[in-house]
Amino acid sequence: MKITALAGGVGGAKLAHGLAHILAPEDLTIIVNTGDDFEHLGMYICPDLDTVCYTLGGLANPETGWGRVGESWNTISNVEKLGGPAWFRLGDQDIATHLERTRRLKEGQSLSQITKDFCKAWGIQHTVLPMSDSPVRTMVDSDEGELAFQEYFVHRQCVPKVKGFRFDGVEAAEPAVGVKEAIDQADAVVICPSNPWVSIDPILQVIKKIDKPVLAVSPIIGGKTVKGPAAKMYEELGIEPSALAVARHYRTILTGFVLDNADSVMENEIKNLNVKTLITDTLMNHLTDRTRLAKDVLHFIGSL
Ligand code: GDP
Repeated sequence: MKITALAGGVGGAKLAHGLAHILAPEDLTIIVNTGDDFEHLGMYICPDLDTVCYTLGGLANPETGWGRVGESWNTISNVEKLGGPAWFRLGDQDIATHLERTRRLKEGQSLSQITKDFCKAWGIQHTVLPMSDSPVRTMVDSDEGELAFQEYFVHRQCVPKVKGFRFDGVEAAEPAVGVKEAIDQADAVVICPSNPWVSIDPILQVIKKIDKPVLAVSPIIGGKTVKGPAAKMYEELGIEPSALAVARHYRTILTGFVLDNADSVMENEIKNLNVKTLITDTLMNHLTDRTRLAKDVLHFIGSL
């Protein structure tokens, strides 16, 4: 079975990791959000792309889900001592990724080519693609005005109340080389449990159209996010955060939806959206949970 997965950072990377443990390299492509990429301290940083790659390469910090395991923080501490911006925590090993990526971009290489080379260097065999090689910037409309995504997410720690989102550059952005082909060749597209508003919507807007069965895994369990602001965003936009709200979010493209055992009472309402459902345990702490959920998802796709 050939699968193309859409992923943001931490939540997306966990399911992508599980899928990569089951599917052969030629059977899994992961398309990653680049809407939260930004330039900082002169470096081009791709937080979601790096989280997915570090996770697949066994390099991720298991406690945070982002950044590198065994990280040291000498560079950023010294930037801080000199009075520079230190709100975006960058570890020493991580900085090497951003420096080398920035150098190659300046030479004219595309983000997808750089990602391919980095994956090879990190021993990642499955295909990881940025959603686009053109810059797309997620902008958060908030009660404090419009904020660039990392300004909202990391610097302001999601305190401003959101009013909406805009993906600057998305109209002109073509999908990266390989993205359309991966979708055309897939038996199904899996939307990983990532933030629907700021991790998945930018990818869907770049791809524009999916002519394949689409299956999504809820990032909301029992009305709460496992991590991050997705539930808070739903609330601030006047929508009760729930697995049902996520299913409604994707309803125009959805064939199947995976919700947690904790949300089984919502199954009928989700089925009423003309969407098939699977109820299972969707919390992924360890590789065993990730692989088990990936197996459940693949069985579910097989049954559709
Ligand atoms: P970010 O870009 O790093 O914020 O990462 P994502 O957008 O990929 O993931 C954030 C979403 O992942 C949040 O809404 C979390 O609730 C969800 N998430 C994280 N871990 C898990 C998990 O183990 N299971 C499920 N179902 N969702 C998760």
